[in-house]
Amino acid sequence: MNLKSANDEADIAYAAVRSGSARLHERAQSALAGGVTHDQRIQNPFPIMVARADGARKWDVDGNEYVDYTMGHGALILGHSHPLPVQAVQAQLGLGTHYGAGHELEIRWAEQIKALVPSIKKVRFHSSGTEATHMAMRLARAVTSRDRIVKFQGHFHGWHDYATVGVEEPYDIPTSNGVPEATRSTITALPTDLDRVRDELEAGDVAAVIVEPSGAGWGAVPIESSFVKSLRELTVEHDTLLILDEVVTGFRMSPGGFQVRAGITPDLTTMAKIVAGGLPGGVVGGRAEIMDYLEKRGDPEWDRGGRVSHPGTYNGNPLSAAAGVAVLEHIADGAVHRQINSLGERLRQELQSVFDRHDVGALVYGETSYWHLSLTGAPVKGGLAGPAGVALQRALIAEGVHIISGGGFVSAAHTEDDIDQTADAFDRAIRAVASEGLLG
Ligand code: PMP
Repeated sequence: MNLKSANDEADIAYAAVRSGSARLHERAQSALAGGVTHDQRIQNPFPIMVARADGARKWDVDGNEYVDYTMGHGALILGHSHPLPVQAVQAQLGLGTHYGAGHELEIRWAEQIKALVPSIKKVRFHSSGTEATHMAMRLARAVTSRDRIVKFQGHFHGWHDYATVGVEEPYDIPTSNGVPEATRSTITALPTDLDRVRDELEAGDVAAVIVEPSGAGWGAVPIESSFVKSLRELTVEHDTLLILDEVVTGFRMSPGGFQVRAGITPDLTTMAKIVAGGLPGGVVGGRAEIMDYLEKRGDPEWDRGGRVSHPGTYNGNPLSAAAGVAVLEHIADGAVHRQINSLGERLRQELQSVFDRHDVGALVYGETSYWHLSLTGAPVKGGLAGPAGVALQRALIAEGVHIISGGGFVSAAHTEDDIDQTADAFDRAIRAVASEGLLG
C-alpha cells in the first residue's frame, strides 16, 4: 500500500479496516491505467472497492457498509438493484442482448421520452452522455452550416474533444492533452454573462449554445432559469440552436427534466444516466426537422453531402432499453420526484445545521434531489478541493458515507433514517477532521 504519509493516523485508521480494497487497489495499479476507470474515482489514500449494492447502500470487499450518494453518478434514481429495472433486464437477457436490428422496446423507449419531454419529437440513442453531446453539436453544425459552438465556463459535457474546452480553471487550458487546436478553436467558453453571449451570437457564425441548465457541474455553480430563458430568446433572435444538456437534470429535476419544470423549449436536448435506468445509454432528441438530418433518403447528394451519420454498435441496446422503459414508466407520474425532492431538501438542511453547529463556514446547497457541499462557503465546483476537503471525504468514507464530487444524489431508496445516519456521520467526520487541525 502506498500511504502518502505513513504517520497520518487517519490514513492508517482508514486502511486498517480496508485491507481488501487496498490489495485490489494495488492490483489495479498495474492493470488499469491510473488505477481507476473514471478520473473522479480517485480517493486518498486509496478508493474503496465495492462488492455489492442494494437500495441506498453499498458494501466494500471488506464488508464495510456505506450510505451511497454517488448513485451511479446520478443514474440510479430508484436506488441500487431496484426490482423493476432488474426484472426487466433479467427478462430481456433471456430474449437476447443484441439483435443487430430494430426492436419494439427501443420504440417504446423513444415514445416514453417524447411523452415526458414535449420539446423532443424524435430521438437517437447512444451509449453515453458524451456521445449524446457530441451528436448534438454535430447536428447543430450540419443544420446551421456553422462551425462554432458557444458553451459556458465550468460546464461539463462529457469527454469528447469539443467538450474539453473551458471546463476547469484556468479556462484557457483544455482539460485534456491530445486535442487539436483546430478542434478547440471551434468552441468558445463564456462566463454566464448575457451581454457576452449576445456579442458572440452577433458575429453570426455560432451553430449552437450548449448549457448545463441548472449550472456548471450539475448546479455546483447554479444559474437562474431566467438566464436559460434569455438564452432561448437570444438564440432564436440569431438563428442559433439551443442545446440543453440534461444528462444529469433530465428525469431528475422533474419527470420532464429541467425544461418542463422551467417551461423552456430547447431545439435539442441531450440525456443519459436516468434515461437508461442505470445501464449504459444516452439520447439526443429535439425538433423533427433537426433530427431528420439523420435520415437516409436514397438521394446520393443528400446521403453523402447533407445528412448526419450515426452508427454505433450499442445504440438502443435491448438491455438498456429494458431498464430505461421500466424506470421511466415508474417515475412518469411525479410521485418519486415529490418523495426524493423532499428528502433532498431535508438532507441539505440537516447537513447545513451540522456544519453550522461546528462553526464551519461551509455551504450545503442544491435543488430537487441533488446536493453540493462547499467548504469555501460559496457555491463553487470542487467545493471539497484542498486538504480539508480531501480529509473530510476520507473521514466520511470512514463513517460510512460515500459521496461524489463534493455532493451527491438522493434516490427513492433513501429513507429518513438514512438522512439521520448521514447527518450523524457528518458530525463525527467534521469532528475528526477538525481534530487534525484542518477545519473549524
Ligand atoms: N453532460 C453532463 C452535464 C454530465 O454531467 C455528464 C457526465 N457526468 C456528461 C455530459 C457525460 O456523460 P457520460 O459520462 O455518460 O459520457
